[in-house]
Amino acid sequence: MKKLYTIFALSAASIAFSQIQKVEPAFWWKGMKNPELQILVYGKNIAKNEIELSDGVQVKDIQKVENPNYVFVTVNTNEINVPKFKINIKNGKKNIDSYTYELKQRNPNSANRESFTSNDVMYLIMPDRFANGDEKNDSSPSLIEKANRNLPNGRHGGDLRGIINNLDYIQNLGATAVWLTPVNEDNEKVYSYHGYAQTDLYKIDERYGTNEEYKELSQKLNKRNMKLVMDYVTNHWGISHWMIKDLPTKDWIHWFSDGENGFKRSNYKTTAQFDTNASEIDKKIALDGWFDTTMPDINQKNPLVLKYLTQNAIWWIEYAELGGFRVDTYPYNNKEAMAKWAKAITDEYPKFNIVGEAWLYTSAHISAWQKDSKIGEAANYNSNLPSVMDFTLYSEMPKALKEKEGWDTGMNRIYNSFTSDFLYPDINNILVFFENHDTERWNEIFNNDPKAYKLGLTLISTVRGIPQIYYGSEVGMRGDKNKGGDADIRRDFPGGWKSDKVNAFNPANQTTEQKEFYQFTQKLLNWRKGKEVIHTGKTKNFVPQNNVFVYFRYNEKETVMVVLNNNEKDENLDLKRFAESLNGFSKGQDVISDKEFSLNNNLTVPAKTSMVIELKK
Ligand code: CA
Repeated sequence: MKKLYTIFALSAASIAFSQIQKVEPAFWWKGMKNPELQILVYGKNIAKNEIELSDGVQVKDIQKVENPNYVFVTVNTNEINVPKFKINIKNGKKNIDSYTYELKQRNPNSANRESFTSNDVMYLIMPDRFANGDEKNDSSPSLIEKANRNLPNGRHGGDLRGIINNLDYIQNLGATAVWLTPVNEDNEKVYSYHGYAQTDLYKIDERYGTNEEYKELSQKLNKRNMKLVMDYVTNHWGISHWMIKDLPTKDWIHWFSDGENGFKRSNYKTTAQFDTNASEIDKKIALDGWFDTTMPDINQKNPLVLKYLTQNAIWWIEYAELGGFRVDTYPYNNKEAMAKWAKAITDEYPKFNIVGEAWLYTSAHISAWQKDSKIGEAANYNSNLPSVMDFTLYSEMPKALKEKEGWDTGMNRIYNSFTSDFLYPDINNILVFFENHDTERWNEIFNNDPKAYKLGLTLISTVRGIPQIYYGSEVGMRGDKNKGGDADIRRDFPGGWKSDKVNAFNPANQTTEQKEFYQFTQKLLNWRKGKEVIHTGKTKNFVPQNNVFVYFRYNEKETVMVVLNNNEKDENLDLKRFAESLNGFSKGQDVISDKEFSLNNNLTVPAKTSMVIELKK
């Protein structure tokens, strides 16, 4: 980290013109619940000058820090009655530079905008790998890494336009929320396509498009009653971020006096957060260690940092009319600061959903991160985080489907994972999935067996929570993380590039194999769209027998029976055991085949097959 100190020292010592180089947020809105706005003004030695606001706008506070290139100006937007005012940089009476600051009116509907819920199915996209809708932006003169589709870890040219062009495909599939991995500028030299080492938190990476195109995507989704979910990263920024290269304060990021140039890698043991017996050193390295060499660990305890992250998050929600956040590496952050962050956001947008990536393996640890958790309460903590991810189910699913039944193997694994549901304060608001952009692909694990895919998809689409699927699996995409690394689980979607031989975006062009995956997904997810009984209904589990798991979803209006046969042979179920849920019903209709049948005696379930049955009187 010696390098960063040197840059810092040089800029502090250089003679300045004190011109404004950046103002963040570049504009803001009147009508926020919290009227206070902190404006960052950046320029060489800017703090050595006076700051004056025009039109009688009062400065509530000016904060200068150890780096004179920064000034933080706080105003009260309730007291400002002009749509624009000037931030003047003055040296004595001489005006050196000025910036016209705009205060827009907040969208009157934004506070009540719908966010993703268990009514939705979330479709996860890596934008660089989905569809190239604009070949002109594949490379940008101002950004280092240029497009090269031959490099597995390179930039392939996918972009926002490619997603906008394929909204019919996503909607017809039955997904209603779209989570994009980060699309803000990531100007690292290599391996920049994943976007998690952001270099500008207010700017869409030019290789994905513009801020306007991002907003266009969100608005076009909203018109379809769909939602755009931003992947937000509070834990780390890219090492090439302009503020990291010229730190406002030394404690903007975490350093280790005994680390290599100040750097120490996280031990990734974030279970320390709720381990009452954790040692201080382990906890410190987990939380303050860096996620990677290119990702300095952000210090959310610094109030200026927290304010920056909070305003940036609100800026994107208001500007782009977002329908939710997925937040990266949640337990790596300072948890008290993050509780304030989540509260500030949900105070402005009460329905706004935020799902934190708490990649932990017990329901106790995961649920502790959900708002109003009793485990959190016991630790005098409330995260204010509405939603978490069901990593317990995720880790049990592939094992279960490959096993024969035993006391705690086969379908018992899945059943067992649901028996801890009581730990979650809001069980409907958890993300359920069997893969994402960081995991092995499901179709790789099961060698593209459509039966395994259908079992997995049936499960995540009919249990409590918000199903999340990962682009391409719906047409049988595979990729081997063990052999090919992350690049292999993030292959290009077939048909996203003009030169692609097969265009799977057009169902008519899909191969026979692709069709089998796609048609099942489309049928099931579109059925789910209108099913309140699945979105918010209750659940009744029957302990697996003979490796067959049966559960019911029910409410006052409806009952749905789900049967998952994990055996290599057909199973003949005696229905008497399910009488408490079947009582009053005589028939059932399978939602995939549309076939209706009697439920009087037995039910034959084919090998490795799921059935989703609507019960009828
Ligand atoms: Ca492009």
